[in-house]
Amino acid sequence: MKIIIVGGVAGGASAAARARRLSEDAQIVLVERGPDVSFANCGLPYYIGGKITERDKLLVVTPKRMQDRFKLDVRVRSSVEAIDRKAKTVRIRDLESGRDYDESYDKLILAPGAAPLRPPIPGIDLPGIFTLRNLQDMDRIKAAVDQGVQQAVVVGAGFIGLELVENLVRLGVSTTVVELQDQVLPPFDKEMTTPLAKALAESGVALLLGEAAEGFEQTSDGLVVRLKSGQELPAQLVALGIGVRPENKLAVDARLEVGPRGGIQVNDHLQTSDPDIFAVGDAIEVKDFVLGSPTQVPLAGPANRQGRIAADNIFGRASRYRGTQGTAILGLFDLTAAMTGASEKVLKRSERPYRMVYVHPNDHAGYYPGAEQMTLKLLFDPESGKVLGAQGVGGAGVDKRIDVLAVAIQAGMTVYDLEEMELAYAPQYGSAKDPINMVGFVAAGLLRGDHPQIDVANLLSIPSGQRPFLLDVRTPNEFAAGHIPDAVNIPVDDLRTRVNELPKDREIAAYCQVGQRGYLATRILNQSGHSAKNVSGGYKSFKLWNQNND
Ligand code: FAD
Repeated sequence: MKIIIVGGVAGGASAAARARRLSEDAQIVLVERGPDVSFANCGLPYYIGGKITERDKLLVVTPKRMQDRFKLDVRVRSSVEAIDRKAKTVRIRDLESGRDYDESYDKLILAPGAAPLRPPIPGIDLPGIFTLRNLQDMDRIKAAVDQGVQQAVVVGAGFIGLELVENLVRLGVSTTVVELQDQVLPPFDKEMTTPLAKALAESGVALLLGEAAEGFEQTSDGLVVRLKSGQELPAQLVALGIGVRPENKLAVDARLEVGPRGGIQVNDHLQTSDPDIFAVGDAIEVKDFVLGSPTQVPLAGPANRQGRIAADNIFGRASRYRGTQGTAILGLFDLTAAMTGASEKVLKRSERPYRMVYVHPNDHAGYYPGAEQMTLKLLFDPESGKVLGAQGVGGAGVDKRIDVLAVAIQAGMTVYDLEEMELAYAPQYGSAKDPINMVGFVAAGLLRGDHPQIDVANLLSIPSGQRPFLLDVRTPNEFAAGHIPDAVNIPVDDLRTRVNELPKDREIAAYCQVGQRGYLATRILNQSGHSAKNVSGGYKSFKLWNQNND
């Protein structure tokens, strides 16, 4: 069996190593355009910022090590230029010598990844405008920074853009972020990104939302970035982080089937429309695990797992790829933002019915020093309670909770399962009622009808004259420090004695700081003949929608 693998990083290197473990006899040729294989793309921004100090640490495995340990034929600085499906050969160009030659295969694995987008706007190719994909890009950015950059503009506030921002700020560079959408981190729901926008502002980053770069010009001092609004930003460094497009040229030229957004189409076994050609990683179209629809998700975990699965299938193991649920995480200064499964905007767009709740628990017991608050948003099926998606933002413990919820989605669990989950607890790690249990209690209570709720977005969408009677059940001090407009304050501890002050002919929306006292208030009110709902996540959720309302 002779296998040729195109691309030697996440998906390609995983496929090669797995193939060797499954067969000592196979001939495995790993062809990589760049000088490195299996490097840590995800670490690149942190070398630029100086958090990772040794460049060599980013080379997870050298070509020589791959060759020795896995008995691979590794050909770096070599590019696969074409596939002849009939002859079952590929045309390889040795980029050192410029020589072209053909190499035959029994099975071919395409793992060419995705290239950063560089839209054709005037001046895009000027020096000082960078994208970040590999160690060479990283070296170029690092060299520019080392020459002395005072001002940088990062175009695009996605994962890579924001990671670059953090690292530029760490280096003392005055940084502006330009983002076309009206929020940072577009895969997330907007309100969940409010703390990130705030953290950027607090770190001195200028954030221009709903704005686009329309041109670049060279000046005596570097560059100027011209924006759609007419504003001009001086910079000595511009980084583009506006997304990636699948490297599909080989596949398109070979007439393999490709989806509408350019991803190479594969079946569950990761076979392309040619059964002898497999494809993995950022270059492919995958099935959305939650919605079942085709999508493209450029993430390292899926690429690595897909590499293994392709190799399995070549050696007769019928492994299947289940689909991608988009579990992703970002560290930004002291904050963590993570998500898994479908977001609310994606559910809305695909007209998938859902319910949602917010909770704002501490990562561990409040009485143990150092507890940090997080916000969790859970999306679930309104009938079965099946978990569809989750997002978290906050300090410590967000990663753990989103990972638990990612497993819940994989396992097809419901909000009732979250109520029952038994998770590790000691006061420095969690709570006897873990945030996962809490979000389960709130969501299950909503579905059982024990805990009627209204979310802030719905509440605010009602014209102010027609809104429910707004009842703030926090203390007078909390109320005085900020409240939802038009709210009346009756602390929850006084509610039983003052319940007659509240209308019975009008719905009441009760809220506290995070939702817990509001829940008790709705139970008291609904048992005294009122019609009450709890505002999901309380005043803290309101603030997610109203950034300036502190
Ligand atoms: P790649 O890893 O990009 O490898 C493809 C390789 O194929 C490339 O080296 C390319 O040179 C080579 N190639 C392409 N065409 C040819 C050809 N014709 N002939 C020969 N070789 C070819 N994901 C996460 O999940 N978490 C993170 O924190 C994270 N951070 C990231 C940070 C940065 C800066 C970047 C750039 C990406 C990050 N990612 C992260 C995404 C992750 O790195 C990718 O999803 C993953 O590497 C995709 O794997 P792949 O094998 O499909 O492609």
